[in-house]
Amino acid sequence: MSERRILSGMRATNPRLHLGNYEGALRNWIRLQSDYRVFCMVADYHALTTMGDVPPDLAYNSREVAKDYIAAGIDPDKSPIFIQSQVPEHAELHLIFSMVTGLGKLERVPTYKEKREDLAEGRQVSYGLLGYPVLQAADILLYRPYGVPVGKDQAPHLELSREVGRSFNAAFGAEVFPEFKDIIDDDDLRSKLPGLDVDENGQLRKMSKSYDNCIYLTDDADAVAQKVKSAFTTPSKMRKTDPGIPEGCAVCQYLKLYSPDWQTQWEEDRRGERGCMQNKNDLIERLNEFLVPFRERRKDLDDASIDAILKRGREEARDVASETMAEVRRAMRLI
Ligand code: ATP
Ligand code: MG
Repeated sequence: MSERRILSGMRATNPRLHLGNYEGALRNWIRLQSDYRVFCMVADYHALTTMGDVPPDLAYNSREVAKDYIAAGIDPDKSPIFIQSQVPEHAELHLIFSMVTGLGKLERVPTYKEKREDLAEGRQVSYGLLGYPVLQAADILLYRPYGVPVGKDQAPHLELSREVGRSFNAAFGAEVFPEFKDIIDDDDLRSKLPGLDVDENGQLRKMSKSYDNCIYLTDDADAVAQKVKSAFTTPSKMRKTDPGIPEGCAVCQYLKLYSPDWQTQWEEDRRGERGCMQNKNDLIERLNEFLVPFRERRKDLDDASIDAILKRGREEARDVASETMAEVRRAMRLI
């Protein structure tokens, strides 16, 4: 198959995608659509690796995530959209990859190390969580893509995926999996968009579906206003005349992306010539303008048309995946 492919996905942990998902990843998927076949996966199995006591409604979440892909600008006539669990080859290759992946490598993955603190507090950490980078390697390598567009948080996982591919090739003496490229935005703000809050050390942290610090692509004008009003700003700036530190202020960070006047706004903020409320009001206006096309496109999407799109996507994904699996089986002398 000579057509160049791109593969990427979002976890179905939540039915809504946020601005970070868009700026860090989706924007690049959309851009790449004109030159590549962009396979857009909804990673439903991955949502189970960090689930709490109540399992997520995966069927609902997955369909809604697919709608957000289209609302953001993915063209389903050009780019297959599919659900991970509907292509059983993902689970199959995951099993095979688990045989060529060292445990030490998985235990060193930063997200796993973070989660292990939960273990210390008596909560369970699953085998699935430890192994999820192996599933991710299978997700990617099944499509033997040219590149994988993601946010910066995914860089260590992509490196691990490449290593898994190399280990398979070395173990079975066949070049089944060629190397792929990370496609991570050069702009540090876009590739790791901060959320509306701060971590326990008072530092901005990544916008994440699991932190409840998000502006969602489908938030209406009132939700955006209410969230921005309660967003984190320079803590020592109590009144307008106090100097601000735009680098550490979530609102100023967003102004940099969404306001053409951000440089003046930052300077005035720094000099104590601008108040946080003024920044917030300007941002609310800009963000609401920015989100109009998403809201417009999304309201026309119904479940029946999404199901038809997902069915077509699954068929195309399975064609590619089953071809890869045939090569995998031959390399392993399973057949
Ligand atoms: P969860 O908290 O459930 O892991 P998430 O918000 O981290 O959700 P994912 O589904 O894990 O979202 O990630 C989907 C894609 O969006 C990945 O490519 C990831 O790197 C990217 N991404 C997620 N959050 C951000 C962010 N704040 N800035 C830039 N890219 C992001
Ligand atoms: Mg994530």
